[in-house]
Amino acid sequence: MVRNKFYVTTPIYYPNDIPHIGHAYTTLAADVLARWNRLLGREVFFLTGTDEHGKKIEKAAVEKEKSPKEFVDELILKFKEAWEKLNVNYDKFIRTTDKEHEEVVKEILQKVYDAGDIYLGDYEGYYCTGCEAYYTEKDLIQEKGKNLCPIHKKEVELLKEKSYFFKLSKYANLLLEFYEKNPDFILPKKKRVEIINRVKEGLKDLSISRTSFDWGIRLPFDKEHICYVWFDALFNYYSATQENSKKKYWPAEVHLIGKDIIWFHTVYWPAFLMSAGIELPKKVFAHGWWTFDKEKISKSRGKVINVDELISIAGVDSARYFLMRETPFGDDGDFSEKALIDRHNNELADKLGNLVSRVAGLIEKNGIEKKSGVFVLKFEKIAKVKELFDGFEFDKVLNEIFEFIDKCNEYIQGKKPWETGDKKVLYEVADAIKTITILLWPFIPETCEKIAKQFNFEIDYKEIEKPLKIGKIKKGEILFKKL
Ligand SMILES: [Zn+2]
Repeated sequence: MVRNKFYVTTPIYYPNDIPHIGHAYTTLAADVLARWNRLLGREVFFLTGTDEHGKKIEKAAVEKEKSPKEFVDELILKFKEAWEKLNVNYDKFIRTTDKEHEEVVKEILQKVYDAGDIYLGDYEGYYCTGCEAYYTEKDLIQEKGKNLCPIHKKEVELLKEKSYFFKLSKYANLLLEFYEKNPDFILPKKKRVEIINRVKEGLKDLSISRTSFDWGIRLPFDKEHICYVWFDALFNYYSATQENSKKKYWPAEVHLIGKDIIWFHTVYWPAFLMSAGIELPKKVFAHGWWTFDKEKISKSRGKVINVDELISIAGVDSARYFLMRETPFGDDGDFSEKALIDRHNNELADKLGNLVSRVAGLIEKNGIEKKSGVFVLKFEKIAKVKELFDGFEFDKVLNEIFEFIDKCNEYIQGKKPWETGDKKVLYEVADAIKTITILLWPFIPETCEKIAKQFNFEIDYKEIEKPLKIGKIKKGEILFKKL
């Protein structure tokens, strides 16, 4: 086992969606964690990708008169582009149509079948093609005599078919024991209690195959059946690590997900892994949802903000910063253009941008002289920041850094180096800017790389402890133009 490694995943996204703020949120959080762990010198593996099988894709492809594969090949480009635009630096983009993935899923299906955890039965249930999932009657919304999906509010179909079942019921007690021994497996904690209570009510066996469509992985022990999409999809996290050079990354340190898919990730997924005899991931963190001007984001109501719109408001780094700063990661947040612009102006431009440009300008004019001994402007919260990152409290990490930026601005205001020309004071603030920049890099990498270049240091955690090397510093371009 490699101790100094960090494996983080996003959910694999449904390729027929337009990449929007919901996708961007999870993916950015994963990027911030990946960058932070790289900064600490860990070997990082950051996985994202797309979930490409199932009835819904098959149907959409038929409507466009394309084969499902042709159809998804085009669609996934939008996701790759979105992550590039948002400066998301993932290590692998997995697709459930990748041959390697399909082979791993087949092997595991056979293994679980041989272990006696899969049997043939009859399935009858209310199926939502939007969710790719069956619902029991009590989960549905009844409206005007119709049964509606609780998420899509669209009518569900009552389907009956032969299906293979996974013996999920067998795993209820094992799961409860596992949650007990691993109190950090389900995060945030308030979600953990909900899941445990539901599992205590008992688990029903889970239908894992369909015969009503073709687009998916065929069961190796019965070619008439297609693997139910969740069994196929969840194993992406594992199959991505099954090439030789990647094996060291399993198990994942954390799966980041939206709260709507927490049940699949904290009940089905660990049960599948237990059955297959595979080590379980360390943590699953379910974040909240964004509302848009206080309304739930949904395509049908036209309240969806896609990645291009998000970036167009105030630039990439401001968007990244806003999503991580505005709301605690496990809670719901409200998105508005005004709130983003306020943070861009008041925090990034007035606090960070102003500090950097002022200090660089003063150094250009007065010069800089190395100072040794005790620094007034020492960032004392490194241990706290590490702890906050470990707890996924990105907003609080940023609060700590911005408190320090305030302190730097106050210090310079009090010392008035524009009157005294004190080169040592300028050195002290420039050194503080180095610390600030390195710690902010996971959140706003492009800006931080510009500052590092301007002040002649490397973005490297070890540089925080080293004194700033003196080099030529000039007033650069404006980092954040006020809007
Ligand atoms: Zn649905």
